[in-house]
Amino acid sequence: MNVARILYPVKVLGPGNRIGIWVSGCPRRCPGCSNPELWERRPAFEITIDNLKEVISGIAAAHPVDGFTISGGEPMAQPEELADLMRCLVTVSKDILVYSGFRYEELKRMDLDSIRRILESVAVLIDGPYVEDLNNGSVLRGSENQNIIVLNEQFRTKYENYLEATQNRIQNFTTYDGVVSVGIHNKDFKKEIYHALSHFYNERAVFHSTLISKKHLTSEQKTRIVNELLILTCI
Ligand code: SF4
Repeated sequence: MNVARILYPVKVLGPGNRIGIWVSGCPRRCPGCSNPELWERRPAFEITIDNLKEVISGIAAAHPVDGFTISGGEPMAQPEELADLMRCLVTVSKDILVYSGFRYEELKRMDLDSIRRILESVAVLIDGPYVEDLNNGSVLRGSENQNIIVLNEQFRTKYENYLEATQNRIQNFTTYDGVVSVGIHNKDFKKEIYHALSHFYNERAVFHSTLISKKHLTSEQKTRIVNELLILTCI
């Protein structure tokens, strides 16, 4: 499976402390997409399902996991692999939130066994492409055209309460390749980030929208970036 990053604890894309999984590869190319660095599949991101399961089990053995959030990239572009992975995830938590640029109806119309198996295990689907003009800063949804669809009734009240009690927030992680800003970003976030981190830009850091990376970024520089992003919207 082509997976760019696995982060824990993600606190801003669903209730509780979640494992966030970002796949790489997306055919949609929505203008303003906050993760354009994840449009292409990359050989370096290939990981077997067994290895993925080991990573997930390792995190779950050491930390409380309240759920999973799977984003990308387009998770449904790797349906066989995702269907396999879901079998492991549900043994840890059935609270699995999946983002897809496809509409729920489109997914059902694909009439693929793998997609059917995925949807059977999804607790909440956030469907539809990102439309920048409809980004109104709402919780969980990148833009207003997207729907929050509860597919497992067991989680309806949990998500209704979460949506009622939660404000949109951003969370920043240091990773092997830089700093990743996670959450639903407002339309101006890219401009704000350039402004707040212009000195890093001058140092030739690469800004891929919500990923700020630079070859040989030191841990001190990553910490500085995270601290400076705190000015924006971080928790
Ligand atoms: S579907 Fe998602 S990842 Fe793909 S281009 Fe659109 S916003 Fe980006």
